[in-house]
Amino acid sequence: MMRFYIMTLFPEMVMGCLNTSITGRAMAKGILSVEAVNIRDYAFNKHNSVDDYPYGGGAGMLMQAEPVYQAYEAVRERIRTGGAHISEAEEVQEKKRPRVVYLSPQGRTFNQRMAEEFAEEEELILLCGHYEGIDERVLEEIVTDYVSIGDYVLTGGELPAMIMVDAIARLVPGVLHNDVSAEFESFQDSLLEYPQYSRPEVWHDKRVPDILLSGHHANVEKWRREQSVIRTARLRPDLLEKAELTEVEKALAEEERKNYEEKTKFSVE
Ligand code: SAM
Repeated sequence: MMRFYIMTLFPEMVMGCLNTSITGRAMAKGILSVEAVNIRDYAFNKHNSVDDYPYGGGAGMLMQAEPVYQAYEAVRERIRTGGAHISEAEEVQEKKRPRVVYLSPQGRTFNQRMAEEFAEEEELILLCGHYEGIDERVLEEIVTDYVSIGDYVLTGGELPAMIMVDAIARLVPGVLHNDVSAEFESFQDSLLEYPQYSRPEVWHDKRVPDILLSGHHANVEKWRREQSVIRTARLRPDLLEKAELTEVEKALAEEERKNYEEKTKFSVE
């Protein structure tokens, strides 16, 4: 069982999404637990507000340190005791503090390798910012990892948190129906996945490649590997730098990359 705690000002946003489909089923089966913790519940003033103006001026509001810290302490207590009472000393002895990920455009860009690493954790706290972000002092105190989902700025950390939970959860044993589906996938070995086909055999005059109908397992595997190399060379040549390719595959990749660049007249950098 892997446990996610999402610290947010919009719990209904994250739970509405994660309660659906594969993650929802995994929660119902007890393989996964996702709890949204409403930071506003830890507001400490009578207006229930959790944001204030930034010192030094500038646009927008900032989430204040104290509600975030209190929400974090509450989650930590739940993780620590798991219902039973354990002292701080026992906690230190038994296990390290939970990892706390702050979703931020300033973080390391999330990728499959990071998803695999986070999937090893028993629990993960994800902290979603809003407005102009969060008071630096509480980040210094509680955050262990800064993670971005890409070089663009969103209005809040909720969508990035959902993306992380989704990518990590599907690596947790039992979450996918068939554990093999997570076995070869894009980014594994720094290659993209090969093309796939389902019934019917002919659609819009396009036939499924004969080799996939041959029933010859070794040939199918060989074809898939080649297709992965070709596809990566065309769409994500940057990944090939880290891929372990044979000399024949390297030559194939180089040829594909050149042909494809000539064919595609424009691309978005
Ligand atoms: N002022 C902040 C800055 O320039 O770094 C951006 C704040 S952003 C408007 C509000 C919140 O959205 C952030 O605190 C963060 O939690 C989330 N966020 C925005 N873009 C993100 C991204 N690319 N990856 C992860 N989280 C993001």
